[in-house]
Amino acid sequence: MKYPTVTNIINGHPAAANGAMLDIFNPQNGDKISEVPLSTASEVEAAVKAAGEAFPDWAARTIKDRVQVFFRYRSLLEKYADDLANLVSEENGKTFDEGMAEVLKSIELTEFACSLPQLVPGDVQEVSRGVECRSEVRPLGVVASITPFNFPNMVPNWTIPNAIALGNAMILKPSEQVPLSAIRLAELLADAGLPDGIFNVVNGGQEVVEAICDHPGITAVSFVGSTRVAKLVYVRATAHFKRALCLGGAKNHLIVLPDANVEMTASNVTASMSGCAGQRCMAASAMVAVGDVDAIIEKICEEARKIEPGKNLGAVISSAARERIEKYITEAEAAGAKVLVDGRGAVVEGKENGYYVGPTVIDHVTPEMKIASEEVFGPVLAIIRSDTVDGAIEIENSSNYGNAAAVFTQSGGMARYVAEKASAGMIGVNIGVPVPREPFSFGGWNESRFGVGDITGASSIGFWTKMKKITVKWNPAARTNWMS
Ligand code: NAD
Repeated sequence: MKYPTVTNIINGHPAAANGAMLDIFNPQNGDKISEVPLSTASEVEAAVKAAGEAFPDWAARTIKDRVQVFFRYRSLLEKYADDLANLVSEENGKTFDEGMAEVLKSIELTEFACSLPQLVPGDVQEVSRGVECRSEVRPLGVVASITPFNFPNMVPNWTIPNAIALGNAMILKPSEQVPLSAIRLAELLADAGLPDGIFNVVNGGQEVVEAICDHPGITAVSFVGSTRVAKLVYVRATAHFKRALCLGGAKNHLIVLPDANVEMTASNVTASMSGCAGQRCMAASAMVAVGDVDAIIEKICEEARKIEPGKNLGAVISSAARERIEKYITEAEAAGAKVLVDGRGAVVEGKENGYYVGPTVIDHVTPEMKIASEEVFGPVLAIIRSDTVDGAIEIENSSNYGNAAAVFTQSGGMARYVAEKASAGMIGVNIGVPVPREPFSFGGWNESRFGVGDITGASSIGFWTKMKKITVKWNPAARTNWMS
């Protein structure tokens, strides 16, 4: 094994777990690189105890003091960016450049957290003569963050800097498929001066997540993953009177109009469907081709053929994922769709045991086909034809999901029209992956998100804090009455 057995991190120290072990593979070559414990409720108990004990001192510090840790953490992310990107690539299978993009985004997220003192000064107003009302933002206590496999570095950093800088103590439950980056982040936080117990990592799967949802010592749970599990976690956490914000899966539609710029559209659509091997909740999964856009489709195929597994296309997370993705392609083909570029059976020389799927473009997909509505999570573009813009919007609107949508056109009026009508939280105009950059916040609609508010940016402040209102009168001589 290239890496030692993963441990939990509790109270600032590696801690062994009781559960069974799960093997961790490098998806690019199928090599076992480590193993991770599937912890039990007793490890969650230990983490809650450590976090609960560390919380009061951390919460009592000023926010200006707390963010100093994140200024240093930011520098460490930068210093070790190459190593961190490499680790992401090894455990997730994406390319080094894609790993680096995650790390750079984590730096940006941390920079936002460093600006929090400017964003939470509280308010004060003289509400009656001689009577002042003041509001203060206070941390919640022990909070939990549960994360998926597809961004081992970035998604944990959606929650770590903001939640902790705002004064909370956190338990992270990373995906059991990619636990190595999370442990490295814990080390960097410790090196940045975060006190023991404020950031804990409990590895595992369903049992750990359920224990987090049930534990009375945890006040808020954020979750990022599939819609099926997001629903389970949202229901279970709120049934135990916790705040919950659960981001789910996606089926993002890119609506391409006949006046769209051919080159720009083709390169954006191809990058969106194939980046991170299509394992992005913001990936272009369905393209709705309005009218005659054959020249653009031809160019997309040309671009897709230039993408080479093992070179500028990473592996998917597991052999099971590869089988699932290829099954969607085969079923669509059997149902009458036309496979224009076929990524099935991709093999990379020297990495024959890697889990690769080549870029795939499928035309004439119809809305009834499974591939049109379900999340494929692979480098596969399903093209659905529509005669009209309103027909395309109807297809987009009929999705249960609502993470992202995009429109490609040279017409400002049409762009505005589609942006207005699309039922998604993040909209792109001539942009295939419309991730809002800080200070804007990240979050979808419909079954792509359960709970209130977004998970990053200013929108997350309300989720990680509670507000206290203090009304004050000092001067008895003023003889103010309440409504004066
Ligand atoms: P997943 O739902 O399988 O796992 C997410 C987390 O839930 C993991 O930590 C896992 O251990 C845990 N888990 C899995 N099954 C569970 C169960 N039955 N009960 C309790 N916990 C359980 O998701 P994944 O495969 O790791 O990630 C891919 C999914 O995440 C895709 O659907 C993708 O769209 C989604 N995603 C969404 C966003 C977003 O912002 N909306 C961002 C990234 C990923």
